[in-house]
Amino acid sequence: MGEFELIARHFTRPAPPGGAVVLGVGDDGALLQPTPGHQLAISTDMLVEGRHFFAGADPEALGHKALAVNLSDLAAMGARPLGFTLALALPTADDAWIAAFARGLFALADAHACPLVGGDTTRGPLNLCITVFGEVRPGRALRRDAARAGDDLWLSGRTGEARLALALRRGEAWAQGEAADVADRMDRPTPRLALGQALATLDGVRAALDLSDGLLGDLGHILKASGVGAEVGVDTLPVAPALQSLALEHRLDCLLAGGDDYELLFTADPTARDAVLAAGRTAGVAVTRIGRITAIPGLQLFDAQGHGMETRRRGFDHFAD
Ligand code: ADP
Ligand code: MG
Repeated sequence: MGEFELIARHFTRPAPPGGAVVLGVGDDGALLQPTPGHQLAISTDMLVEGRHFFAGADPEALGHKALAVNLSDLAAMGARPLGFTLALALPTADDAWIAAFARGLFALADAHACPLVGGDTTRGPLNLCITVFGEVRPGRALRRDAARAGDDLWLSGRTGEARLALALRRGEAWAQGEAADVADRMDRPTPRLALGQALATLDGVRAALDLSDGLLGDLGHILKASGVGAEVGVDTLPVAPALQSLALEHRLDCLLAGGDDYELLFTADPTARDAVLAAGRTAGVAVTRIGRITAIPGLQLFDAQGHGMETRRRGFDHFAD
């Protein structure tokens, strides 16, 4: 199977009618028509074998995850997806592998009406790079630099299950004996698109990001960009059943610094509380108030008794070691 046959067989599908795609796969470039007056929101994420996933990973799950992590970025901007491109390096043209990858990819793409509009295909060490294009009303994008002192700090869903799944797969001793069914939380994350778009319509919702590298580390990005601090009530964090029997230290590691959660962390004026809760209900995901934004810089954790907690936990950084 040659390069062009591979593209034709696995990655060329008619553009869905009524969407933003004027011209999709097959020409030198794609043509997208956003809704007049809207801004484009663009995000790129790369998955590298051995870095983001294990050699021999299930190709269908990889197809899902490669797109999911990108859609999660659009969700965090409050944007609606229009389409995406796929740059793919493959060691071999293994038809069954590519078919399974495409199945996982297109199942998620179709669920969010986000068609594949182009890409690039080359031989090389397995590497998946997706760029998503979305749109958002001017002034409505949820940015990291918009948090204000006095805002509530909110979290969608729960953190930590993907970290537990990773530990189980790696055979880390502390996680053994947890018969938890958490693999999908690592392999098939759910991008919170409906929630992100709903939040972007609300007055009083300010900053947001999606959690990929751990709650505390990612929160640090909002604090730095916005020039503010935060207080987080550790006992207010929702704890998944699978995490409840872990020793406290490991549970906190999962909750606060786990990574790969793909939940939304966002700030909103306290006047928006009811609207935020309603947006969560409509989007079908729990939203929990976990703290507040402060004028004093820095991050302060509190336990259930209101005592300050020390932590060395930090977010994941590819070049930190
Ligand atoms: P070019 O030489 O202009 O870069 P290519 O030969 O790389 O074009 O690709 C031919 C067409 O196939 C282009 O429209 C490109 O966007 C598309 N394409 C290539 N690889 C992929 C892929 N993995 N997924 C979707 N479309 C792809
Ligand atoms: Mg090319």
